[in-house]
Amino acid sequence: MNVYDSEKIAGLLASRGYRITRRPSEADLVVVNTCAIREKAEQKVFSYLGRLAGLKRRRADMLVAVGGCVAQQQGDRIPARQPCVDIVFGTQAIGRLPALVERAEAGFGPLTDTGPAEGIEMITGAAAGGLDAGISRFVTVMRGCDNYCTYCVVPFVRGREVSRSPEAVVAEVRELVADGAREVTLLGQNVNSYGRKEGLCSFARLLARVNAVDGLARIRFTTSHPKDLSDELIAAFGSLDKLCRHLHLPVQSGSDAVLKRMNRGYTRQHYLARVERIRAACPGIALSTDIIVGFPGETEEDFRQTLELIREVEYDSLFAFKYSDRPDAPARRFSRKVAEEEKKRRLKAVLDTQEHITRRKNRQCVGRIETVLVEGVSRRNAAAGAGAARMQWTGRTSENRIVNFSREEGAAVAPPQTGQLVDVLIEKAFAHSLWGRAPAVRPVKPRPKGDACYAA
Ligand code: SF4
Repeated sequence: MNVYDSEKIAGLLASRGYRITRRPSEADLVVVNTCAIREKAEQKVFSYLGRLAGLKRRRADMLVAVGGCVAQQQGDRIPARQPCVDIVFGTQAIGRLPALVERAEAGFGPLTDTGPAEGIEMITGAAAGGLDAGISRFVTVMRGCDNYCTYCVVPFVRGREVSRSPEAVVAEVRELVADGAREVTLLGQNVNSYGRKEGLCSFARLLARVNAVDGLARIRFTTSHPKDLSDELIAAFGSLDKLCRHLHLPVQSGSDAVLKRMNRGYTRQHYLARVERIRAACPGIALSTDIIVGFPGETEEDFRQTLELIREVEYDSLFAFKYSDRPDAPARRFSRKVAEEEKKRRLKAVLDTQEHITRRKNRQCVGRIETVLVEGVSRRNAAAGAGAARMQWTGRTSENRIVNFSREEGAAVAPPQTGQLVDVLIEKAFAHSLWGRAPAVRPVKPRPKGDACYAA
C-alpha cells in the first residue's frame, strides 16, 4: 500500500516540477512515507528523521515532508519532536500535498494536514511520476478497514472501508498497461468485502473485468480475509486465465483462543476448510500467510497449535512478526504479555519450520518447465556488467516463486525481453529462489489455465 501511495505522491509532485532523485543530499524536498504497523517501523522513522536533520543543517532550504500512517497517528507531535520536519500529511491528505508543498516553499510551516479525503478517486489514477515503475504495478481497489482486529492500527490510521468503482479500477489498469505494465496487483486491506457497502459488484466480478483488459498478462491481489473468502472468489482461480496461482491468506495464529482474542472472526477449522476448498478448485496453487507470535496470553500450547497448522497447510512462504503494542489498538491493554526473549524464540521456530517446507517445495520444481514473467536482467548480472552471452534474467512464476535464469547455449531465439512470458527449465532450487535455463521464448500471450507448470 505504501509503495502504491509513493507512486501517487511522486506523480502529484511531478505536477509541481519535482523529479525523483535517489540521493537525499541532492533533494530539494524529501518525502518520508511511513508505516505504523509495528513499533520497529515507527522507530526507524525517527532515526531516519534524525539523519535528515543533520543534512538540513547544511541545506537550510531543503524541505522535509512526513506522510503515511505515523503521520496520521502523530500529527503535530512529529515536528514538535523533530523540528527539521516542514510538512506532516496523513493517509487521506495525499491529494493535498502539492498545495502543502507550495505553502512550505513560500516559507509557511510547519504544516499539518491529517484531515479526511475529499473522495476515494482523488488519490488514484496519477502516473508513477518518475519512480522506477517496472512491469508489475499496484492498483488500489479500496482503502481502510472495518474489521478491527485487536492488534491492528489500520482502521485508526487509514479509516473506514471505502471501495472504488469497478470502472475507475479498470480505467487505471488500462492506463498502467498503456504505460508498460504487464502485471497488476489489486490492493485492499480486505478485498473480499470489496464493494459490499457501496452495492458494487463482487471482488470476483471485478477480477473478471480486469482479466478482460488487453495486453495484461497477470493479475495478483492482496489481502484476502479468511472469514470472507467466498466460493465465488475460489472459483475465479479455476476460470480466469490471467489470475495467478497464488493466494495470500493471513491466518495469524493456529489457536482458536488466540484468534478469538485477536477478533479475527474465524476458527482454525473454518480456515483449514477454506484451504481444502481452494486446493480442490485449483490444485497446486501456492499459499502464503502472515503469523503473529507472542500475542498477549499466547501460551506454549497455543503456539504449538500454530506450528502444527503451518506443517499441516504446508505454505509456500510466510511472513512472521513478533507482536508489539500499537497506540489505539485494543490489545495494548491486554494482560499476560509475552516476554521479548520468548517472542524471539517463537519467531525463530516459525521461520525455521517454514524454511524447511519452502526448501522442499522448491526442490520439487527441479526438472519442471515453469512459465516466468521476465522482470529484467538479474541484479547480480547488472552489477557484474556481464556480456550478453552470460546474461542472467530474473522473473516470477505464476505461483510467485523467484526464478533467475540464463539462455540455453546457442539458442536460436532472441534474448528474453522484460515483460515477456518465458518457459524456463528449472535446474536448481535454493531457499528463496529457483535457477534455470530458458529453452524457448514464447510470444507475449498468457498460457491457458492449468498449463503454467508441468513436468519437462
Ligand atoms: S483485517 Fe484486521 S489486520 Fe487486516 S487491516 Fe483490517 S484490522 Fe488490520
